Amino acid sequence: MNDYKKIFPNLPERISGLGELAYNLWWSWHPAARMLFKSMDRQGWKDSIHNPVRMLKEIPREILEATAGDEEYLTRYDGVISEFRNKIKPKRCWFTENITEAQCSPIAYFSAEYGLHHSLPFYAGGLGFLAGDHLKECSDLGLPLVAVGFMYPGGYLRQRIRVDGWQEEVAAPLDRDAAPIARALDEKGKQLVVKVPCLDPPIYVGVWKVDVGNIPLYLMDTDIEANDPWNRQISAQLYIGDLEQRLRQEIILGIGGSEVLEALGIKHSVLHLNEGHPAFAILEQIRAQVNKGMNFDEAAGYVRNTSVFTTHTPVPAGHDVFPFHLLDKYLGSYYPLFGLSREHFFQLGAHPRSPEAGFNMTALALRMTGYHNGVSKRHAEVARRMWQPLWPQAKEEDVPIDGITNGVHLPTWVDPKMELLFNKHLGKDWLERHDDPETWKPVDDIPDKELWQVYIWLKIKLIDAIREQARKRWAEERRAASVNVVTSGTLLDPLALTIGFARRFATYKRAYLIFEDMERLKRLLTNRWRPVQIIFAGKAHPSDDEGKRILQHIFKLACDPNLGGRVAFVEDYGEQLAQHMVHGVDVWLNNPVPPMEASGTSGMKASINGIPQLSILDGWWIEGFNGKNGWAFEGSGSDKKDAEAVYDILETEIVPLYYKMDEDGVPHGWVEVMKEAIKGTAPQFSARRMVKEYTMRFYRKSLEAAAQP
Ligand SMILES: *Cc1c(COP(=O)(O)O)cnc(C)c1O
Repeated sequence: MNDYKKIFPNLPERISGLGELAYNLWWSWHPAARMLFKSMDRQGWKDSIHNPVRMLKEIPREILEATAGDEEYLTRYDGVISEFRNKIKPKRCWFTENITEAQCSPIAYFSAEYGLHHSLPFYAGGLGFLAGDHLKECSDLGLPLVAVGFMYPGGYLRQRIRVDGWQEEVAAPLDRDAAPIARALDEKGKQLVVKVPCLDPPIYVGVWKVDVGNIPLYLMDTDIEANDPWNRQISAQLYIGDLEQRLRQEIILGIGGSEVLEALGIKHSVLHLNEGHPAFAILEQIRAQVNKGMNFDEAAGYVRNTSVFTTHTPVPAGHDVFPFHLLDKYLGSYYPLFGLSREHFFQLGAHPRSPEAGFNMTALALRMTGYHNGVSKRHAEVARRMWQPLWPQAKEEDVPIDGITNGVHLPTWVDPKMELLFNKHLGKDWLERHDDPETWKPVDDIPDKELWQVYIWLKIKLIDAIREQARKRWAEERRAASVNVVTSGTLLDPLALTIGFARRFATYKRAYLIFEDMERLKRLLTNRWRPVQIIFAGKAHPSDDEGKRILQHIFKLACDPNLGGRVAFVEDYGEQLAQHMVHGVDVWLNNPVPPMEASGTSGMKASINGIPQLSILDGWWIEGFNGKNGWAFEGSGSDKKDAEAVYDILETEIVPLYYKMDEDGVPHGWVEVMKEAIKGTAPQFSARRMVKEYTMRFYRKSLEAAAQP
């Protein structure tokens, strides 16, 4: 428990609950809670980059005291704090009402990254936000879950684009004391430090805790004094390129993470692995049973019945394979603890087609867990084909990999202004029922003009935010006005049809596709009466030169006056920019190479805010597209043909529909599609539907198995 009085000495007693609230990310998905901080001091809120811990530390005492004497504020404060206290320790919730084993021991969720809020930059992309949204929804539904991961204190890389368009990374070290994280403490009141088992020489991790509503997230930090410099570097960066350092990360994540739960006295019974990186955690589950007297096979059988594994990608780089000599180096003294020979141990991670290739973390996870899934129906099919060799007796369609399609946490990704609109039209408790399609029927009755006006406001807000960033860089960093300021979005026009494309610059996502036919694109963008503009954002992995070349190519095109200033590249894509973009563009473009986009989630975030997608049929869109809620095309296997499909849809459907305004200035046909996007996406592609599915299909059975004597 934090001593909030010590952390925020200036905070008056009457509003002292703000201390606890600032340290629980619950505030971030409750607009009224967010407003408590924002309305106290708008500039302070902005200066803190929407980080209440930092704001409460830096804000002048007079403002805090004035706030504590403001009756209107105090009424809101009391309301929020009492809701917070009730929700954090609920007496009843969906989980206890539907699952009988309510008092069961917790589910341990392991992930290498978590995207929760930009003040905690422990993520690279979609996998992280999926994990973050999972935790938030588990909190809302009352699941007994604890989460484990890494904090990357030195590793968040801000993106800077040079004048020649090449991406550079600027490390932004984490200020641990200004982030909403607290040291987990031992009995003596010192930060808990845990020794990772079985490593010689030993490695230690410092333990931190993030409160995500009522879900605790424990993060490990190797950058502590007990470790030598090489070991301190282990948690420096996400998905480090060096294989040996990467293996060490994954040993710490899986094995060290299990030890952390042990040291905290948390007796979890069920394990959920988010992707293969933490798969060593399974071995620790088995070891615990072996220590209780089971032999390896018995222990493995037990652990299988209580473990869940989610695979997230068909892209080969997403599946770690480690050479055997590195395993020997670090885990040589580990194999015997299971009564296993070296060869038998290696077989646990062998890919049947190429057992000599090394130790495959996905193969380990699939072999040793009983419940596995891909992240959409299509991805499950692809994963069944990919991993069929692990089940040589099974026909491809019988390979036991299910599909549980991803979803996004609605309260996080719906814009607060939209939320107000929904409050008004969907009935007060709509958020409680948001995974029920019935809840969304009244969207049809929202007056078009009202929806359109909210939406235009959000679009202007996006363009404002982009211009403000460009202005700052120009003024403070003396950026080259002719290149960086022009391309970073200062020429954007709020009246033009705006396409958004923002995601990691992985090659398969094909950010370059729309530039395939420059003449045709130019005609679209520079049409005098019906102009189109495109906003790009996204980072290439620091060691992905191919991704950086694609980015540079786009940046250079954005500088080309022939495209009329209609292409912008906005630097430093992260949670904040993502929020602005999925609320404020007109169309979300998605054109990966099928079937590489296992699910994709940014299109869901846009759709729930009324921004329809133009997407290739891959990932979630195969399930999501219903003919009315956006636009779709089949992948052809050729860049040229796929690009033609994009132009065709833009020219014949999207542009005419968007610009067909009626006398009242509202494009009613377009608003119709916006409404369909909201109705067709919000219930089905919510994290609520997803977490309920994990619970009913996997967690419940695992919890039952764990409760067997
Ligand atoms: C949602 C999100 C992603 C994932 O987007 P995809 O469409 O799945 O690639 C990546 N980065 C950020 C910041 C996000 O919010």
